[in-house]
Amino acid sequence: MTDRDARAAGRGILLVVAGPSGVGKGTMISGLLERHPRVQWSVSCTTRDPRPGEVDGRDYHFVSPAEFERMIAAGELLEWAIVHGTHAYGTPRVPVEEALAAGQDMVLEIDYQGARSIRQALPEAVLVFVAPPSTEALLARLEGRNTEEPEAVLRRLRSARTEFRHMGIFHFLIVNDDLGAAIDALEAVYLAERQRLHRADWQGLQARLLGEMEERLS
Ligand code: ADP
Ligand code: 5GP
Repeated sequence: MTDRDARAAGRGILLVVAGPSGVGKGTMISGLLERHPRVQWSVSCTTRDPRPGEVDGRDYHFVSPAEFERMIAAGELLEWAIVHGTHAYGTPRVPVEEALAAGQDMVLEIDYQGARSIRQALPEAVLVFVAPPSTEALLARLEGRNTEEPEAVLRRLRSARTEFRHMGIFHFLIVNDDLGAAIDALEAVYLAERQRLHRADWQGLQARLLGEMEERLS
């Protein structure tokens, strides 16, 4: 086994899903988790206020700017970024590292800056960019979700432009036009990653098959 094989075999998959706000990342990840309940969704920390219906600890850990600063200083965040030019968002380090080491698959829904940091920190991460079929469709979804004031919608559109500029750092691109097809595509990426040779004990299987062949063919 090479070092890389030894490290990868038994480790969980880290799926990073990015793309503009309102494109459907959360909806697609929920669809993936319905099909694969063992995949864990990392709960981010944020300094923004909860939206109606959002639950602390489930949707986000809602923290004060001072607490966020403390977490950065203490090295408790695997990555963090200022998103939409206003609030800070970050991924707690310990749950992700523990899950991966225990062979548990994890999905992160973060922005392109976070995806870039994760790629540097954990090169095995699989980076997926979700794009809308058009700007018009994106705007309709953002407005249809009805969670933001018009000014916040505009901020999210500006961030979307920045996200589009960084599409090139990702491994996979999924255009979320038909939702079912987009969830199928996300699942296909996940399933393909599970089948990577370096994740399997392929030398063990190879030795057994060759042993069986030896008996049959001698
Ligand atoms: P994100 O997590 O990227 O911010 P959401 O998952 O909250 O986006 O989706 C934003 C809105 O768009 C939601 O109201 C969701 O139901 C809707 N949506 C998601 N995917 C599609 C799609 N393929 N076609 C139409 N509407 C969609
Ligand atoms: P919202 O405020 O609409 O929930 O999220 C805004 C954006 O922040 C989302 O598009 C999401 O990708 C990004 N985001 C959420 N959590 C994190 C995180 O932990 N790290 C980073 N870098 N971005 C995040």
